[in-house]
Amino acid sequence: MKAIKNLLVPQFIDALAKDMHLLAPVKKGNNVYFKTWQSGMELEWRRNSFLPPKDLFFPQMDLLYKYSILGQNGEIQELTQSEGPRAIVGIRNCDLKSITLLDKVFLSEGFEDPAYRHRRDNTVLIAYNCSKPQPACFCTSLGINPQGGEGADLVLFELEQEDLGKEEKFSGPGPDYGIEARTPKGEEILKKQRDYVHDTHKKAVPFQQCPLSFGTDGILEKLQEMFEHSLWDDLSKRCLRCGICTYVCPTCHCFDIQGKNAGEEGFKYRCWDSCMFSDYTLMAGGHDPRPTRMERFRNRFLHKLWFYKERYGEFLCTGCGRCLSKCPVHLDISYVAGKIKEAVVDVR
Ligand code: SF4
Ligand code: SF4
Repeated sequence: MKAIKNLLVPQFIDALAKDMHLLAPVKKGNNVYFKTWQSGMELEWRRNSFLPPKDLFFPQMDLLYKYSILGQNGEIQELTQSEGPRAIVGIRNCDLKSITLLDKVFLSEGFEDPAYRHRRDNTVLIAYNCSKPQPACFCTSLGINPQGGEGADLVLFELEQEDLGKEEKFSGPGPDYGIEARTPKGEEILKKQRDYVHDTHKKAVPFQQCPLSFGTDGILEKLQEMFEHSLWDDLSKRCLRCGICTYVCPTCHCFDIQGKNAGEEGFKYRCWDSCMFSDYTLMAGGHDPRPTRMERFRNRFLHKLWFYKERYGEFLCTGCGRCLSKCPVHLDISYVAGKIKEAVVDVR
């Protein structure tokens, strides 16, 4: 197995950043954000970033094209095709999984979103396999292996430290990292950066159990009997409609397309939207198929635990725990799934 010494990790990342645009989870205040790597930044991949890396493929605001009109003729200038190769280092397995779930939305069933496709094809994914879950983690409940690295080009993982005695262990530089290529792109990178890696016989640190869990067995079938259940009214009364759950969620992907026109020219852009907002389904003629808070709240959870699974075969949740720590009234998916499980099916 190949390994990188703990102290060489920043240099390894500096070296990668010389070849391509490199993004990494770095500390900013008390939080972690994926940012363009600059030498000297403080890397933090042992806890989840405040926002998931979904905006690196599906930006919060994405210019799609500019246009200009000259008499009867028009010209369109695509804006997303010029982005160069890049790598994202330090993606945890829950967020890695979210990218494969977004792939199904943006790249499957005969539909291909060109901007999303371009970014996916131009991005090398370097995963960080977790060994220590955070208090709100429950990825294993969704069938995700936090040390699987599925979909990554390269994976990094903590190696067991030699028994140096308690004091040295805590004052030392931290663990070395195992590194493994999973694709030809990953092998190429590893070959090029061979000066930073060495052979090792040390073992990977095993994953500790997730602190939270919820059973998904039979939940879809139960939800099919619960469309009109009083639970949705009871729970949704607490919802503040702030939409933060959808913004921090790595798998939520509602968007709107807007345009700005200035006479003979203009542009179109795509921006994140939230199914929790009252005007999300409001149509130009004034009709709204989901006019109440209850209907919008119900739709979010039915989409995650029923509709998406029916369409693509998986739940639209990775157990990353972000909605658990961010919803101001604790209406997170783990809580709601627990209530669904307890509910007695008594169709009104
Ligand atoms: S629903 Fe919550 S736990 Fe699931 S992926 Fe979204 S933010 Fe993470
Ligand atoms: S974060 Fe909580 S309160 Fe805000 S919209 Fe989502 S469920 Fe409602």
